[in-house]
Amino acid sequence: MCAIVGVFGTENAAQLAYYALFAMQHRGQESTGISSADGKKIHLVKRRGLVTDVFHEGRLKLLKGSCAIGHNRYSTAGKDSVLDAQPVFAKYKLGEISVAHNGNLTNKYEVRDDLIEKGAIFQTEMDTENIVHLIAKSQKNKLKARIKDMLNKIEGAYCLAIQSRSKMFVVRDRFGIRPLSLGKLKNGGYIVASETCAFDLVGAEFVRDVEPGEMLVFEKGKEPQSEMIFESDPHPCAFEYIYFARPDSIIAGKTVYNMRLQMGKQLAKETPAKIDLVLPVPDSGVAAAKGYADGMGVPFEMGIVRNHYVGRTFIEPTQEIRDLKVKLKLSPIKDMIKGKSVAIVDDSLVRGTTSKQIVRMLKDAGAKEVHMRIAAPEIKYPCRYGIDTATSQELISFSKTPEEIAEYIGADSLGFLSIEGLTKSLGDDSNYSLVSFDGNYFAGGNADSPGCSTIR
Ligand code: 5GP
Ligand code: MG
Repeated sequence: MCAIVGVFGTENAAQLAYYALFAMQHRGQESTGISSADGKKIHLVKRRGLVTDVFHEGRLKLLKGSCAIGHNRYSTAGKDSVLDAQPVFAKYKLGEISVAHNGNLTNKYEVRDDLIEKGAIFQTEMDTENIVHLIAKSQKNKLKARIKDMLNKIEGAYCLAIQSRSKMFVVRDRFGIRPLSLGKLKNGGYIVASETCAFDLVGAEFVRDVEPGEMLVFEKGKEPQSEMIFESDPHPCAFEYIYFARPDSIIAGKTVYNMRLQMGKQLAKETPAKIDLVLPVPDSGVAAAKGYADGMGVPFEMGIVRNHYVGRTFIEPTQEIRDLKVKLKLSPIKDMIKGKSVAIVDDSLVRGTTSKQIVRMLKDAGAKEVHMRIAAPEIKYPCRYGIDTATSQELISFSKTPEEIAEYIGADSLGFLSIEGLTKSLGDDSNYSLVSFDGNYFAGGNADSPGCSTIR
C-alpha cells in the first residue's frame, strides 16, 4: 500500500502535502513524512504515527519552500523503526535529494547485493534506498538522466516522487499498477497524489492520471514536462478497487464506490443465498454489501456497529475476551439479527480470521443461518507489487477449498466472486493486475520472492 504526494509551485507546499496525506491516511498508518525544498535546501520531518500526530504547526513551519513531497507508510509486521519512514533523504554529488515510493521492487535484493558488493552501505531494508543509491552512483551530469539510469535498473511496481532542491520528478511504472493522478491547484501550482480524494480536500482540480511509463518534470516557471520513459502496458491493480482505495477516489476514470457496488451485484448473480437480510462487515465491506443486497432484492442493514477508536495503544485483552478480539471493533445489533438468516458481505478474505470471528459473533447474536459472501475471488498468491501478504501458506484459500473454509469459519455457506465476475464488474477495458488471484507475476518476482516488509 502506502500513499505518496507531491506538491509543486505554491508557497504553502508542505501544508497542502499534509492535507493530502491526511486524506490518504487509510493507505498507511505506520509512519508519515514530508520533505520540502526551498531552492537552497531540503527540509525533512518524518516520524512513526498518524499524520495528525506527527505534524503540528511548529513542524510544518520548518518545512519551507514551494515544493513538498510526502509519504504514508503502511503498517508492516515487526517493522516499526523511524528509519523505515519515508521520504528517504540523501546528499550526493549533485546536492540533495529526497524520494517517496509507493510499490515494491521485485529485483530488490539483486540490486541491493550488487550495490553492497561495490561498497554501498544501507541503513534500512527498504527498496527505496536502492533508488537513492542508483541515482547517486549514476555517472550522468543531470539528475533527470540519472533518474532514467536508475529506472532502467529497477523492476516491479513503483510510483515515485523525487525532489531536488529546485525540481520535482514524478514517475509511474509502465504497468501503472499503483494509482497516481495529477491535479491543478487553484493558484496555478500542481499536485500529484496516489488517490484523487487528496485533491478534493485541498480543492485541486483533477487533470488526469499519470500515464503508466510516464515521467513528469516540474520546474519553476514552466508547465510540467511529460516524457514517456517506457512503453505503457497498463495493468491496474484490481485490489485497489476491492479494498485499498477510498470509495470516493477515482482510479482510471472509475469511482471506487461504484466498482464495489458492481462487484456486490455480480456476487449476487454468482452466489445467491436464501436470506432475510444483508449485512456488511464495516467499513470495508459496505459498498459491496449494498450491491449484493440490491442484486438479491433483500434489505440491507448496518447490523454491525464499528468502534472507530481501537488504536495501537489499546491494552492487550485478557484471555476471556482475547478469543473474540473482533468484539473490540465490531458489535452486532442483536434484535435485528435474532432468528434471521443473514448474508454477511466482506470485501476480501485473507487469513479467514475476521470471517471466523464475525460468523461466531452473529451466531451468538441468535442468527438462524449465516451465509458469508466475499466480493473478491479467492486470494491464493502473495502480491509482490505493493500489497504486503507474506507467503502463500498464510492465505487460507491457498490450501483450502471454499467448502473447507466455510466449515472452518462456521458459516452455513461461503461464496466468492469469480475472477471473470471481478473483471466484468470493473469493465473489460483493462488488463487488470490479478496476481493475488491468478498468480500471474507479469511484472517480475514470484510467490517466494521478498515482499514489501521482508527482512532478510
Ligand atoms: P482475514 O481476517 O481474512 O485475514 O482478512 C480479511 C479482512 O482484512 C477483510 O475485512 C479485509 O477488508 C481486510 N483486508 C484485506 N486486505 C488487507 C490488507 O492488505 N491489509 C489489511 N490491514 N486488511 C486487509
Ligand atoms: Mg475489512
